[in-house]
Amino acid sequence: MSASVEPTISEVDGSRAAEVLAVIHEAFGDRPPLDPPATALDETLDSVREALDAHGGLLVEHDGRPVGSLLFELRGRMLGLRRVGVLGSARGLGVAARLTAEAMRIATERHFGGIELEARVELPRTVAMWRHFGFVEAGRNGNRLTMLKLLPVRRVLPTAEDTRAFGGWLATLMRAGDMVILTGDLGAGKTTLTQGLGEGLGVRGDVTSPTFVIARVHPSLRGGLPLVHVDAYRLGDTAELDDLDLDTDIEEAVTVVEWGEGLAETLAHSRLEISLERGDDDVRTLTLTPVGPRWRELVF
Ligand code: ADP
Ligand code: MG
Repeated sequence: MSASVEPTISEVDGSRAAEVLAVIHEAFGDRPPLDPPATALDETLDSVREALDAHGGLLVEHDGRPVGSLLFELRGRMLGLRRVGVLGSARGLGVAARLTAEAMRIATERHFGGIELEARVELPRTVAMWRHFGFVEAGRNGNRLTMLKLLPVRRVLPTAEDTRAFGGWLATLMRAGDMVILTGDLGAGKTTLTQGLGEGLGVRGDVTSPTFVIARVHPSLRGGLPLVHVDAYRLGDTAELDDLDLDTDIEEAVTVVEWGEGLAETLAHSRLEISLERGDDDVRTLTLTPVGPRWRELVF
């Protein structure tokens, strides 16, 4: 008797086309009919072999049986995922999560900006699953949603000056309506980074940790974008950005929010999520995760 084992995942070429085709036909054959119809069932051994030989794909096996697969395609700076299929009999094994994680790993290795796929609006549970895996809607064409997951960027920042300089670099990217969410423990460097951003934008007033106010608006000294600095760190986990009665239109400003962990997910807004972690010495490790269509074309 074979014990139940974890599914395995591998990148495959055209030599595995028959197994990938079988997954596609079974997985897509299970879905309700769509209008316009999904074309997955038109795939043939030849079309799948050709796609796999050109760009590769992934195959997940469980107990020696193919249970999930996808095809890669090139979508500019993004690694595209097509024909993402998981057999109904393999649900609950985390196959789609494995496919997503492995595609992200390969996208990192090959210097793509992220991964992208199309989902049908008529399949809300599928769309919800991709959202759960960190994809966001980046466009819509009829009933086809483009969903995008960008790769995080990591930087090591040895000194406070490096953290400030990173903020200065961020300032060069900013447009009206942009939002930066900073997370990290007290003293991690959130305000330090915001100071560099404020200097880069050329705004008035020292950016400090406000003790009595939650939000402060720093107007531009040179006709540029104002900086809205929100210190919601102490608001706790019930805070909502909408609740802050800001006296400024955030669509006309750059908004930086120092925030507790895990709250950014409640925001619908495109944003740069930045977490700062303090190491043994004063070195900080920064992780920047771009979220949403605003950052689609950003080349890191
Ligand atoms: P937060 O807003 O996250 O609570 P602050 O930016 O107010 O943190 O404080 C960070 C403190 O740590 C500052 O006194 C800063 O000078 C110091 N510091 C030392 N090394 C670094 C570094 N590499 N990056 C950021 N801050 C640093
Ligand atoms: Mg602070």
